[in-house]
Amino acid sequence: MPITPSAELATPRDTPLSPEGPPPPPRLAGAPRGPAAVAALVDDAMRTLALATTERGGPLPASTPHEVDAAVRDALAATGAAALPRLTGALTAGAADPAHPHCAAHLHCPPLAVAVAADTVASVLNQSLDSWDQSPAATAMETQLVAELADLVGYHGAGAGGVITSGGTESNLTALLLARDHALGAAGTDPGRHGVARAAGTARPRILCGAAAHFSVQRSAALLGLGEDAVVPVEVDAGHRMRVEDLRAALERVRADGDLPVAIVATAGTTDLGGIDPLPAIVRLAREFDVWLHVDAAYGGGLLFSRRLRHLLTGIEGAQSIGMDLHKLGWQPVAAGVLLTRERALFAPLSRSVDYLNPTDDEESGYPSLLGYSLRTTRRADVFKIAVTLRTLGADGLGAMVEACHDLARSAAAQVTADPRLDLAQEPSLTTVVFRYRAGGDAEHGDRVNARLRRSLLEQGRAVVGRTRIEGRVWLKLTLLNPDTTPDDTAALLALVADAGDAEQARPQESR
Ligand SMILES: *Cc1c(COP(=O)(O)O)cnc(C)c1O
Repeated sequence: MPITPSAELATPRDTPLSPEGPPPPPRLAGAPRGPAAVAALVDDAMRTLALATTERGGPLPASTPHEVDAAVRDALAATGAAALPRLTGALTAGAADPAHPHCAAHLHCPPLAVAVAADTVASVLNQSLDSWDQSPAATAMETQLVAELADLVGYHGAGAGGVITSGGTESNLTALLLARDHALGAAGTDPGRHGVARAAGTARPRILCGAAAHFSVQRSAALLGLGEDAVVPVEVDAGHRMRVEDLRAALERVRADGDLPVAIVATAGTTDLGGIDPLPAIVRLAREFDVWLHVDAAYGGGLLFSRRLRHLLTGIEGAQSIGMDLHKLGWQPVAAGVLLTRERALFAPLSRSVDYLNPTDDEESGYPSLLGYSLRTTRRADVFKIAVTLRTLGADGLGAMVEACHDLARSAAAQVTADPRLDLAQEPSLTTVVFRYRAGGDAEHGDRVNARLRRSLLEQGRAVVGRTRIEGRVWLKLTLLNPDTTPDDTAALLALVADAGDAEQARPQESR
């Protein structure tokens, strides 16, 4: 049957009044007149949100955690039709706003309007990607888009595999599960069935990654029954890039001890310094030692959209698996993670035939199912907003946004260098700027002043800057993911930071 838009798209407000008055709006988004009801509710909610954003004025509420808690408790007293506007107002008033130029702490991007609209469509349709009969077109779209993203990373040909994930954490966990079963499977055992202890025998499974890799690598090792101790941290240089000689030495040690290297995890864009591990050299080592290479490009993967910057990821296509997050350098609303594998067959350990979802005879009759690519069962069509974004802006459009953020980081670093009150850790490699207020005195005093000045900016609702620890010292960080932020904005933000540092220094000792 052809799909035609129905007359039900008219909004309830436009519906002529019947003698009994207008019909009540439908309860369900997908009901007849449901889309119009959603549009009206969203329209009202967006007005409330815009108003509350203006009222907040800054990048986050000028409130203590206790005050936010009380405001939310208050709003949760709303009932009935008042709930949506009231709670929208409260959530907005208490929001950290990634679109505000002074909100620059985390890999937390301002989403594109078109992606948000697409995500609303995905919510209304509520497809679920675990079986074809819950998501016919969405299943086809995810399959086609994954092939396109595989092409982007350089997995050319029709054989690549992949899945949309909730983000880098799930991508790392999934990739390491595939790598674990690949490595132990090569030894003739099936850890998924028999458990890791029996499958591994006396060889201890080992995962090698840079010391600055994301903490989800350790957590994955724990979840996969390998234990956090299975993760062997490899020394990194000052830019937080893995030292290749140390990786070689670590691999040789694993081999000499009779242990089993399950995977090397290279990072393309560490969270703090944006360090990119030397991918070509790591690819060569992974081949030499016959170990699965996973590249965690959760942050740096977006560089692939930029013709000017994609050379920074040269070699990435030599990995068995790659994770990238389009809710970072991709401007998607959460969640929009991607996990790709060089060959689709590498997902085999996850494959499942479930009688009520994807019976074998259905699959043999040409009904595909994506159940066997994900750790999840019910899974929303996050692919839709990604597809709409890529078609609307093109890879080049996203690339221009990546370049704008990279340029902004470089100019902000120059502003730090020019300010005698601030110290730059190093030139930015992606879109983060790590720096510190020069407090004078000993290092501990500097740590305290930097930690306090950041909290004082939070308390006043004036700025959200990041904080981290590098080589034992507290540093501040701008994570620049807003392509509309200007150098004037970063100059104003850095001045706020330096002034807050001065104010901390001037405060009498006992009141600190
Ligand atoms: C953000 C990030 C992760 C975690 O990704 P989520 O999307 O938050 O789950 C993992 N690795 C790196 C390098 C990251 O930057």
